[in-house]
Amino acid sequence: MTTVSRIYRLGQFHRFESAGAQFLYLVPAGAIFAVDDAVGKLLACLASGELPHARLVADLVASGLSIADAEDLISEMFYANVIVAPEAVTEQPQELPEVFPIQTLVMNLTNQCNLSCQYCYEFGADKLATPEGKPKFMDVQTAKTSVDFLLAQSGDRRSIHITFFGGETLMNFPLLKEVVTYANEKAKQQDRHIDFSLTTNATLLTPAIVEFLSENHIGVTVSMDGPKEMHDQLRVFANGRGSYDIIEPKVRALIQNHRTRPITARVTLTSGVGDVIRIFRHLKQDLGFHEVGFAPVTSSPNQLYSIAPAGMDNMLAQFHTLADEYLEYAVRGEAHGFSNVSDTLAELCQGVNKSHPCGAGLGLLGVGPSGDIAPCHRFVDSDQHSLGHISQGIDREKQADFLRRGHIGAKYACHECWARPLCAGGCHHEAFVRYGDTGHPNLHYCDWIRDWTNKCLEVYGAIAVQNPGFLQQFAERKAS
Ligand code: SF4
Ligand code: SF4
Repeated sequence: MTTVSRIYRLGQFHRFESAGAQFLYLVPAGAIFAVDDAVGKLLACLASGELPHARLVADLVASGLSIADAEDLISEMFYANVIVAPEAVTEQPQELPEVFPIQTLVMNLTNQCNLSCQYCYEFGADKLATPEGKPKFMDVQTAKTSVDFLLAQSGDRRSIHITFFGGETLMNFPLLKEVVTYANEKAKQQDRHIDFSLTTNATLLTPAIVEFLSENHIGVTVSMDGPKEMHDQLRVFANGRGSYDIIEPKVRALIQNHRTRPITARVTLTSGVGDVIRIFRHLKQDLGFHEVGFAPVTSSPNQLYSIAPAGMDNMLAQFHTLADEYLEYAVRGEAHGFSNVSDTLAELCQGVNKSHPCGAGLGLLGVGPSGDIAPCHRFVDSDQHSLGHISQGIDREKQADFLRRGHIGAKYACHECWARPLCAGGCHHEAFVRYGDTGHPNLHYCDWIRDWTNKCLEVYGAIAVQNPGFLQQFAERKAS
């Protein structure tokens, strides 16, 4: 089709305003575009519908542009997908690669835990795991085979990642130490680098463990739900006693003595634990965590601890308050620590446009104590979701089925949604718990996601106007 015979209409974008400037979030590209005066005129011309090329040029000229500038603008905006010509659209859903190199292996060193948190996806009412007859702790051979598997399956990636998980990860700390030594040796032989991290409930931390973690540059995320009266509501031992008093001094010692990586808190919000701002202040200011991230509990809607719509709205309002605070810090060039904003800014800065909501089953796999491979740590030990065994490799048919169903192209309800480059339908695990299908979009929280994404876009836009250098740190940062 020649340029002059095109009929133009607006492309798919989300328009937002921040710090007095106008922006477009271009959906097909996952990119952010500043709207200047000329682009604003073009958008106005097409606001009420389609226009043929000649008419669009004439309207732009009538609004004050020269013919040459109007032609250049149309051409530039057409190639940026701000405007589209229906006949010229040939966009096809991305094909999945046959084999995708793994970047991250999540090793569930044990499926045992010394706490009995009532909302736990591994042991609670919505559990998927079928651990009967399987080992409770990973053994050395399985762990070493897992490391070999990661090195073999990660293609020519120079830098790869192992995350230790549980159950409670530190219940198998001796194995963790062996894995770090073994993996470092193997990686060195191949002139590669392995980065380590772990998630823990912090109950079993000791000075010696902290020293090891610090010396080996192992990133630590502590699952913690805020001050004592909130944390102890659901994060309890088997006898119902809260775990706050045990972990509080250990967390302080961890933050003080682990000098090589920032320490992160990960909060699970529930119906009874929703005071986001107070939790943030306690974990960030009183205890000294570097970053604090929040996620609403993953559960079927009928659990007592699941959050009702009013609770989700309340949570969102508090997220907004912290996001505004984040912006004030960013404009001054200071780190705030609300990782829900940082993670989204990182994705925006990298122009993320997801085919799948996360790396599960793609660049990330979980491996259970038995050596079973799962899409991620949350599916470990679930026979229904197994993707093979590390001794035999990935079951490519099952993996392809998981990825086909989780692909944005298969989620028809998401196709018109402007938030899909970042959301892509949301967590596969949550989808299974809610809808019984890992590929089902999480339609119960779309309004929430769009509101929060819009807020993060506004924060991005305001930082881009007031202190653009601050965004530089996210260019290379891997969003979690
Ligand atoms: S799940 Fe909802 S918010 Fe997410 S991409 Fe789909 S329609 Fe959009
Ligand atoms: S978002 Fe869900 S499916 Fe993806 S890695 Fe996290 S828990 Fe697993």
